[in-house]
Formats: sequence, structure tokens, C-alpha cells
Amino acid sequence: MNLIKAIKNHLIEVILVSLIIVVSIVILVITRVGAQKDNLIATVYYENKVIETIDLSKVSENTLIDICLHDSEYITVEVKKGAIRVVSANCKRGDCKRMGWATTSATPIICLDLHYKIVLSGESDVDVVLR
Ligand SMILES: [Zn+2]
Repeated sequence: MNLIKAIKNHLIEVILVSLIIVVSIVILVITRVGAQKDNLIATVYYENKVIETIDLSKVSENTLIDICLHDSEYITVEVKKGAIRVVSANCKRGDCKRMGWATTSATPIICLDLHYKIVLSGESDVDVVLR
């Protein structure tokens, strides 16, 4: 059993390497906590200004939320864990409503009529900076 012999001969090295691996995993886990899909945040922009942020990881059941875009312009969104959709918006084309549930940052809800968009983030901090 050469492997066991080698491990015995290099016990300190093995312990050190194991320790480094464990520390690396711990650091990775800590830095990745905010990168989990569980921490999905929906950010509502109106004319590129943030007007609402919704933590989709804290939603336990389907909930309707009225969001005021400006003055008397409101939209209604429905949120559930890890997803958001527009159920009511006073726009001509209604594309935002037809888009259905948004569940990843790759599929933002954009409404050209009302100049708002809903962007999901949370997979990584870099994504947020890039936007
Ligand atoms: Zn729309």
C-alpha cells in the first residue's frame, strides 16, 4: 500500500494541504452566499432609476404588490419565491404582462411603453456592477 505509506511519510504536508482545502471551501462558501439563486433580488427601474427592490428569496407565498412608477402610474406585480411577473400595467402593447414569470437575470421584464424594467440579480455581485 504505497499510498498509505506515502501519506504516513508526509503527514504534515497532508494535514496542511487538507487544511488549505478546507479553508478554501469555507472562503468559497462565504463569498458565494450572496451568489446563490436563493438570494434573488428583483429591482424595478423607472427611467433607469431604482424605485423598488424586492427580495424574492424572502417571499413565502404568491403576493401581489402595487408599484408606483411615478405620479399616478401604477403597475401590479406578482411575486413568488424566486420569481416575479407583471399582472397589471397600463401600457398599450402589454409585452411586460405577456413575458410571464421572470426567474433569472437573463430574462428581465422590459416595458417600452411605461419606461420601466424589472431586473433580477443575485447570482453574482459582478452582474450588478455590469448593469
Ligand atoms: Zn408594458
